[in-house]
Amino acid sequence: MTIHGQNLASQLSNPSLLRTKGYINGEWVDASDDAKFPVINPATGAQLAEVPNMPCGQVTAAIEAAHAAFPSWSALTAYQRQSYLLKLHAAMESHHEDLALILTAENGKPLAEAKGEIAYGAGFLSWFAAEALRTYGHTVPAAIPNQRNTIIRQPVGVCGLITPWNFPNAMITRKLAPALAAGCTVVVKAPAETPLSALVICALAEGVGIPKGVINVVVVDKGPREAACGMELCVNPLVSKISFTGSTAVGRLLMQQSASTLKKLSFELGGNAAFMVFDDADLDLAVEGTIASKFRASGQTCVCANRIFVQSNVYDEFAHRLATRVKAMKVGNPMDEGVNIGPLVNDRAVDKVERHVTDAVGKGATVVCGGSRVSGHGSFFEPTVLTNVSPKSALTSEETFGPLAALFKFDTEEDVIEEANNTDVGLGGYFYTQDVSRVYRVAEKMQVGMVGVNTGVISQPCIPFGGVKQSGFGREGGKSGIDEYMIEKLITVGNI
Ligand code: NAD
Repeated sequence: MTIHGQNLASQLSNPSLLRTKGYINGEWVDASDDAKFPVINPATGAQLAEVPNMPCGQVTAAIEAAHAAFPSWSALTAYQRQSYLLKLHAAMESHHEDLALILTAENGKPLAEAKGEIAYGAGFLSWFAAEALRTYGHTVPAAIPNQRNTIIRQPVGVCGLITPWNFPNAMITRKLAPALAAGCTVVVKAPAETPLSALVICALAEGVGIPKGVINVVVVDKGPREAACGMELCVNPLVSKISFTGSTAVGRLLMQQSASTLKKLSFELGGNAAFMVFDDADLDLAVEGTIASKFRASGQTCVCANRIFVQSNVYDEFAHRLATRVKAMKVGNPMDEGVNIGPLVNDRAVDKVERHVTDAVGKGATVVCGGSRVSGHGSFFEPTVLTNVSPKSALTSEETFGPLAALFKFDTEEDVIEEANNTDVGLGGYFYTQDVSRVYRVAEKMQVGMVGVNTGVISQPCIPFGGVKQSGFGREGGKSGIDEYMIEKLITVGNI
């Protein structure tokens, strides 16, 4: 099925889910000056829709709406908020086909992966619906006679949620669900590449009766209005917290901008994951893990393997098996059955992969398969395997964010740990081994927030996601995910 501009709505079981206006204070709104920008299908280059390019004043209005909604939303019981989240979860599940179609149309990931993302994204709503009931406080024995100490937990307030295009649904629910469960209200800045997936969540939230002002979504194009929107969320004193997923460069900027109002922050930024294959690994499993970690979303995930280190004595065999598997991958329209590799998000992303290949080859790497952009419509790059990659290549220090598997050789465990840690970021990391003592020895030395051992998939709503070093701070998902949206308040009573 090929989706061209005007026919996305007609492909949906419920065409009213295709929303092309922002959502502020329970109203669907255009930009106040009527400015618009196009949403592009990266598989075809066709325009899918036009959405508002909102000026800063509407971001302020969204913040004020969230602020006005905060007292009543936070005063609900946790059971009432849980009920709303479960209804939104059910709505996402019952419309998951439509949500996946919208997601694939604007993001380009294969439809099967988009359905997986919707299930994953909905999983945050059910997980945090349960966690809403467990925001326990505690008491502490007093150091002062006749005094009692009670610590309660309260929602932090209005939250600015800034999310990227690579997981257009799940990056929103991973923030939205804990925020709402905690009692916060939100302003979401939808990514310019994938606003439709953000807006459909609002349509479902409206449908299940989430009160006006609790969720607001502002839509802005890349450029000056995005910068102004980011700035307003960071400097407006009515916003208490910013949660951001995206590049380290933008994270750094948002942190600087938030300094003037000292907001609570959680940032999930870029990674440069090492994927290590030891000579005692099951090589077939390691190849499957590499495919899952490297080529999911065409390599556009922040935890995707960026540097693949293979022990010398299994290097050639692993490279051969991986290349055989990669050559069999089908590149094409992500709506079509059996396609494994869709387009990258835009031509700029294709340019980056091409630059990394050219640079690596210039420094001695061999192209085993792929290696080129795909000519014609859409932003495609062939799934690629490079061997003999020099550590001096640009891709060693920069996240490629594309379908490029770069293989490096190592001799000893000590050497590869040192190489793996030789980066200023630390989000995910992986290794394959069948030696149990190595599992703990290596995992404990890796400077990352998440380690996958004998698996290429490390994300689930029930476990913490986040990084160390310049990959950011804070955790999303898991039992600590809701803490990012709450504050501890001490109530100490004297002279009892
Ligand atoms: P980018 O840094 O320009 O944008 C990332 C996201 O940040 C955008 O979706 C947008 O929502 C937001 N943003 C950008 N500028 C902003 C501003 N001034 N104020 C507020 N929000 C702002 O990155 P990109 O061009 O989309 O991708 C480039 C690289 O960023 C990728 O190659 C990858 O390395 C990294 N990236 C990482 C993730 C992740 O999941 N951690 C997601 C997207 C991009």
